[in-house]
Amino acid sequence: MEKKAYLPIAAAALAAAVFAAGCTRASAPRRLQWPVMGTIAALSFRGEAEDRDEVREVVAGVYDELNEKLSAWDADSELSRFALLHTNDLSSVSPRARPCYEAAFRLADETGGAFNPRLGATLRELGFTRVSDVDLGAIAKGFAVDVACDELMRAGYAARKPDGALLVDLGGNLRSVCGQWRTGVRNPFAAVDDDLPAHAAVIVLADGEAVATSGNYERFVERDGHRISHILDGRTGEPVEGMAGVTVLAPTAMMADGLSTALFVLGPEAGMKFLSRHHPGTAALWIPDTPSNPRIIATPEMRARLLNPEYPVETAK
Ligand code: AMP
Ligand code: MG
Repeated sequence: MEKKAYLPIAAAALAAAVFAAGCTRASAPRRLQWPVMGTIAALSFRGEAEDRDEVREVVAGVYDELNEKLSAWDADSELSRFALLHTNDLSSVSPRARPCYEAAFRLADETGGAFNPRLGATLRELGFTRVSDVDLGAIAKGFAVDVACDELMRAGYAARKPDGALLVDLGGNLRSVCGQWRTGVRNPFAAVDDDLPAHAAVIVLADGEAVATSGNYERFVERDGHRISHILDGRTGEPVEGMAGVTVLAPTAMMADGLSTALFVLGPEAGMKFLSRHHPGTAALWIPDTPSNPRIIATPEMRARLLNPEYPVETAK
């Protein structure tokens, strides 16, 4: 059986430690949260937020609509029907969902297949629940966050909120709709040892910016007492070993989400080559799965953004 590590919400990959930062008021943020897409959605508000139920309705509407289209668990979803066509031709896909497929196939090209949206059958064989052979789970949540943020912007949300701030989080894919947010990078080792600090570092998210974390602790199956990660090397279909967590900052949640999974597979060395070729200047960090020797390997851009790191930080080369 697939296990989802639903930690207390505070633990939703990254989110949680959202502290008041920047902006005008240092009031404590208010949070709304609910389960969706096999994970947890959260909204954090600062300042006046009397319309938060309205905001939640817009965001939840987007998630439900995209979940219907992009679910790899539902044999009737647009994604599952696309998978049966065995093509990369996106003409059968709705315009609303198309950017997510395009980004996934582009990342597959750029990574030489390390990122692979066609791992559904392999995941199923390993014991993860998937009905569709095409699986956009590595990027769809970030995409949904962006679409939700776009809808809020279109509705004039930020313009109406000179004093407020809003952060959208879907399962560790965060984007600031407005305002600066202090976010905690989840400490992957805290998932198995409660005594460890919950966060490996803090990052202040700029207005509009996104951050995503991929972790080996989030979902897994057990075989012979051994945990099998839900992130596979798309070139071999083998579960990735040796990596505990990867965090990426990007201008959109979709890119942060896709890149964090891609970099989880590639690791720091190949990951740096890939970034310098296709996404130069990206702020990313890797936490290798060595709990007895915890360390953070960060690109120079990420290093400059890390506050209060719990572990020694090395620069990725
Ligand atoms: P994330 O939590 O964003 O890192 O995404 C992980 C999810 O992406 C997994 O649960 C799988 O559904 C899917 N996945 C696993 N390995 C890969 C891969 N190499 N490329 C693309 N998607 C993957
Ligand atoms: Mg991802």
